Amino acid sequence: MTKNYDAIIIGAGIIGAAIGYELSKKGLHTLNVEMLPAAGYGSTSNSCAIIRLYYSTLDGSAMAYDGYYYWREWADYLEAPKEEQLAKFHECGTLVMKTKLNDGLRKQLVFMDALDICYEHRSNAQILENYPFYDLSSFAPAKTLDDPNFGEPTGGQIDGAIFSPNGGYISDPQFATRNIQLAAERAGAAFLFNSRVKEIPTKNGSVEGVLLSDGTRINAPVVINVAGPHSSQINAMVGADADMKISTRALRQEVAHVPVPKGIDYSAVACVTSDSDAAVYTRPEVGNNILIGSEDPPCDSHIFVDPDNYDLNFSNQWTVQAQRLGLRFPDLGIPGKLKGCVDLYDVTEDWMPIYDSSCIEGYFMACGTSGNQFKNAPVVGKVMAELIEYCESGNDHDGEPMGYQLENIDHEISLATFSRLREINQNSTFSVLG
Ligand SMILES: Cc1cc2nc3c(=O)[nH]c(=O)nc-3n(C[C@H](O)[C@H](O)[C@H](O)COP(=O)(O)OP(=O)(O)OC[C@H]3O[C@@H](n4cnc5c(N)ncnc54)[C@H](O)[C@@H]3O)c2cc1C
Repeated sequence: MTKNYDAIIIGAGIIGAAIGYELSKKGLHTLNVEMLPAAGYGSTSNSCAIIRLYYSTLDGSAMAYDGYYYWREWADYLEAPKEEQLAKFHECGTLVMKTKLNDGLRKQLVFMDALDICYEHRSNAQILENYPFYDLSSFAPAKTLDDPNFGEPTGGQIDGAIFSPNGGYISDPQFATRNIQLAAERAGAAFLFNSRVKEIPTKNGSVEGVLLSDGTRINAPVVINVAGPHSSQINAMVGADADMKISTRALRQEVAHVPVPKGIDYSAVACVTSDSDAAVYTRPEVGNNILIGSEDPPCDSHIFVDPDNYDLNFSNQWTVQAQRLGLRFPDLGIPGKLKGCVDLYDVTEDWMPIYDSSCIEGYFMACGTSGNQFKNAPVVGKVMAELIEYCESGNDHDGEPMGYQLENIDHEISLATFSRLREINQNSTFSVLG
C-alpha cells in the first residue's frame, strides 16, 4: 500500500523529532520513520546532553544561547498540557578551565561578550572553594596510558576558569525526545517505528519518498536525512554525496561513570566542567556519580566504524578518561565494575554540523552533529523548517544562503556556516567542543 506525506524525516532522534514538530506546526503532513522501537533510542539516548554556551564560532555560540531558552522554558516550547511529565534541565552552570590550549578562552569570551552571555572569571583559589579536592597542576599535553610520562605535571597550573550560570544538562535525553514526539503528534505529525529506510527513489533529479525494508513505499516531495551516525549511508543511498565537500562518519565514543569518593556530596557543589588541560569534560550523574567524557586530545586515535557493527564493550578509552580526571581529582577511585556507555558521534571534518539542502531536489540533511548538537535541537528544528520552506518556494540556497534570525536573542546566523559545500572551518577546535 502507498501512503503520501508532505515531508518524510528519516530518524526520530532529538533533532529528527524537533524537525517533525516544526514542520507540523507550519501545517505540513509529516512522517518520522525510525528503525528503532521509540523516539530518541539512537545516539540521542546516550548523549551527555550538556547545555553550554562556549563554541569556537560566533554562530555556534549564538545557536547554543538561543537553544538554552527553549530548554529553560521547555513546557512553553512544547506547548505541553499541565499534567505532562517533562525532562528536567539541571541548570547547575558550566565551569571551563582557562588553559594554554584554549588560550585562556580569549576567543570564546569575545563571542560571549558580543552575545551578552553572562559569565564570571574564577581564580584558582575560587575554584578550590567548590572543588577543594582538585589538583590544579598542568598536565598538558594529554598522553596515552602507555606513555611513561602519563600523570607527570608539566609545570605551572591552569589559569583559573570561566563560570557561566546559564548551562547544565538535561535528564534524560531520550525522555526529552519523547516530549518532542508528543508535541509533534499534538501538532499533527506521525511517527513510524521499527521501520528501516532502504531506498530513496528519485525521478528527474527530485526525491519521491522512501522505500522501507518491508517493501512499503511512502511518497513525499521532501525527505530529510536526520539519521545521526547512519547519515552517510542515507546520503549515499540517494546520491546526495555527489557534490558534498564536507562528509560525515560514525565515530565510536565511550563515556565513563565513576562514583564520587565517599564523604563528598558532589551534586551539591558540582557543575559541568570542561578541562582541556586534563582533556576531559564532566557533569554530575545520578547516584552520586561523575560522568566523564573525552575532549578528544590529538594523542588519542579516532575509531571510525560501521554504525551497524561496532564493539559495544568498554576499552582503554574508558580507563584513560577516568585516569585523566584522576589527575585533577586524585582521590577518585576506579571501580571494579565499569559503568557508562559506548555510542557514536556523526562527525564531519571540522566537527561542525551540516544543516543544508542538497544536489537532489527536495532532499535535505541535518547531520554531522559531531557530538555537540543535542542542545541545539529545538533551534535546528526551526532552522530546517525555514530552510525547507525557503527552498521549496524556489530560492537557490546554494547561491544565496538563507539567513535565520534567532527567536530568543538578537542575532542572525548565516546557514552558509553549516553548508555541505563549505571549506573546512579552520576556527574549529576539531574536537567535540565544536
Ligand atoms: C556519547 C555522546 C555524548 C554526547 N554529548 C552531548 C552533549 O553533552 N551535548 C550536546 O549538545 N550534544 C551531545 N552529543 C551529541 C548529540 O547527542 C547528538 O548531536 C544528537 O543526539 C543527534 O540527534 P539526531 O536526532 O540527529 O540523531 P540520532 O539520535 O542518532 O537519531 C538518528 C536516528 O535515525 C535512525 N535511523 C538511522 N538510519 C535509519 C534508517 N535507514 N531508517 C530509519 N531510521 C534510521 C536511528 O535509529 C536513530 O534513532 C553527544 C552524543 C553522544 C553519542
